[in-house]
Amino acid sequence: MWKKRKNAVTIRIMSAIHKLILYNTLGHKKELFRSRKGKDVGYYTCGPTVYQYAHIGNLRTYIFEDILKRALILFGYRVKHIMNITDVGHLTSDEDTGEDKIEREAFRQKKTAFEIARFYEDEFKKDLKKLNILFPDAFPRATEHIAEQIELIERLEKKGYTYKTSDGIYFDTKKFNAYGILWKTKPHDAQKSDRIKTEEKKNNEDFALWKFSLDKARDKSASSSKRQMEWESPWGVGFPGWHIECSAMSMKYLGEEFDIHTGGIDHIPVHHTDEIAQSEAATGKQFVRFWLHGNFLQIDGKRMGKSEGNFLTAEELQKKGFDPLDYRYFILGTHYRSPLLFSLEALESAKNARHRIVTHIQKLLQMPRSIRAPRGGKELDKEKINQGFRNAFTKALADDLNMPQALAVFWNHFEALSHPDILWADKIMGLRLGSIKKPDPPKEIKKLAKDREESRKKRDWKRADEIRSEMQKRGWNIDDTSGGPIFTQEK
Ligand code: AMP
Ligand code: ZN
Repeated sequence: MWKKRKNAVTIRIMSAIHKLILYNTLGHKKELFRSRKGKDVGYYTCGPTVYQYAHIGNLRTYIFEDILKRALILFGYRVKHIMNITDVGHLTSDEDTGEDKIEREAFRQKKTAFEIARFYEDEFKKDLKKLNILFPDAFPRATEHIAEQIELIERLEKKGYTYKTSDGIYFDTKKFNAYGILWKTKPHDAQKSDRIKTEEKKNNEDFALWKFSLDKARDKSASSSKRQMEWESPWGVGFPGWHIECSAMSMKYLGEEFDIHTGGIDHIPVHHTDEIAQSEAATGKQFVRFWLHGNFLQIDGKRMGKSEGNFLTAEELQKKGFDPLDYRYFILGTHYRSPLLFSLEALESAKNARHRIVTHIQKLLQMPRSIRAPRGGKELDKEKINQGFRNAFTKALADDLNMPQALAVFWNHFEALSHPDILWADKIMGLRLGSIKKPDPPKEIKKLAKDREESRKKRDWKRADEIRSEMQKRGWNIDDTSGGPIFTQEK
């Protein structure tokens, strides 16, 4: 109880000193974060298209989004977080052409589209758990919100923003004055200008709200003759476009105006631009106040991508001997707005750094309350709160989630950090440091340690060293402190 109150006071003091500043893609600058309603924050994250395993590039974005959520909580906000599952409507091209990614995969694997979507959704959730990413309050699926999407398209139709072509219902971007507000260079940045202008589309940027199911005779690119996922609608049988699901579901769960929306930078030119257009056209209100975007994970100088075929999954990293949390630590070392080059060497150093933290905690857990630090140095009280450290860490975080700076603060104070300080920082880092237990060596290791103590008492240093290497061979390290020997486990 007392601890809880103390924590609340600390949060109040910290958030009074440090204000949370976030880079808002909407204004192309860092802005002071303010929520619409006091301490309540509505937060929407574009979730995965569930036709394949998530790759570690995708996972970089979800880790950045998790750090943002944890930072909001640290700053005292109550966060309502929604992450959609795209299980229909995402075509192989963002240009509303090509095949539905899930239908195509179903055809390839000779499974139903439903089986494919559910399988990869479950795998995705397993990845989130492995990486200690906090689950959202809900994972709404596009296929379970068809009515809401149709309703939104009807609203747009009534207001005159839509038109019909032979393959669907389109949004007329010329009718929405603020179209493209997220782009840095207006009206056509490089990425937009190569958008396909089909004969029937009025403007290059117009996008599909509803697509008609076409039979194979008309849709030559389709792998299978008939779509599995299709619904009745006022415009005919078909399926929703990719963007409309995010508008319909975010507004359903968070209201027509909410605080934060995130995704990877690839969502800026098309997906998020179109979300803003259709949402604001329908409601006449500002859809979202803060848009945040994570930069790419690269490999061999190129973006890691499913279609690029250069990707690795969390499971593959595990097979190479890494803990998924090593990857999480690796991600924390680079600011979310900078590109990050992946390499196994860099991941190896992240693994070593994380291991150093783990062994430090193992030592702390075996120490009496107050003790001289093992490698000489200052008196270390394992319960003490280091306000200077917490302040500096929070300050880094407040500056647009500067995790590399926060980690630098962490390492500067590392040797003197108490157990509560480390667990406090881990509320943001999310390395599951709270689950590290006091090491319990097996009997034979304890026996070796005892023999070693006796050799030391007899000043038989040679024998003591031999025993130490014997212990190391069996995966255990020993440190001598004034409180007695302390065990740590090898990686
Ligand atoms: P998708 O499942 O393709 O819709 O992508 C899921 C998330 O991963 C989106 O927020 C993308 O912007 C993001 N993403 C895709 N590729 C990368 C990458 N190489 N690095 C970081 N994020 C990415
Ligand atoms: Zn989305």
